[in-house]
Amino acid sequence: MSKKPSNRLNSNGYKIAFLTCFMVAALSRPAAAQSLCTLTSNPRGQPMGNAPPAAVGQVNQILQVLGYRTNIVAVYQGNVGNAAAIPSPPRIVYNPYFMNQLQMSGVATPVSVLAHEVGHFVGPLQRHQNPQVRELDADCISGIAMRRMGASLQQAVHAQVLMPSGGSPTHPPTQQRINAITKGFQTQSCP
Ligand SMILES: [Zn+2]
Repeated sequence: MSKKPSNRLNSNGYKIAFLTCFMVAALSRPAAAQSLCTLTSNPRGQPMGNAPPAAVGQVNQILQVLGYRTNIVAVYQGNVGNAAAIPSPPRIVYNPYFMNQLQMSGVATPVSVLAHEVGHFVGPLQRHQNPQVRELDADCISGIAMRRMGASLQQAVHAQVLMPSGGSPTHPPTQQRINAITKGFQTQSCP
């Protein structure tokens, strides 16, 4: 993994990109607090299809600051509980209402979710058999990316703070996830 802090974004560029992206889906709906990356059906029937260019651009910027080529991960809005990374072909699917809820707490918060999902494609431990290890690996990667994009540590962990969880068979408890994001943010290294 490249460690050079390339393509650092200024906070305004960041803000504009996300406002553009998520004001398109700016219908406020109550979002259930769910752990990241779960796949659940949504009774409302979320709009399916290509993500807005701003969201695609954010995923590409995340790839770029991590030292990867752009456009190697497709981005869709879709019928998922919150957000998911799906292999073959590599794609991120996010629920636009979930992301809009996060965006209300700060423009960087949805970016951290996208960075976590990118982590599922580029993290060094993504072939580990324990799903909790894979989640913490993706969290660590998101910490690296968020710092390189100019976010604060508080912004990098905020999505986790908003959705406290004692953990599940696939997802570690919130504090472990915050610790993994913090490690990536501070050390710029995973695992
Ligand atoms: Zn995940």
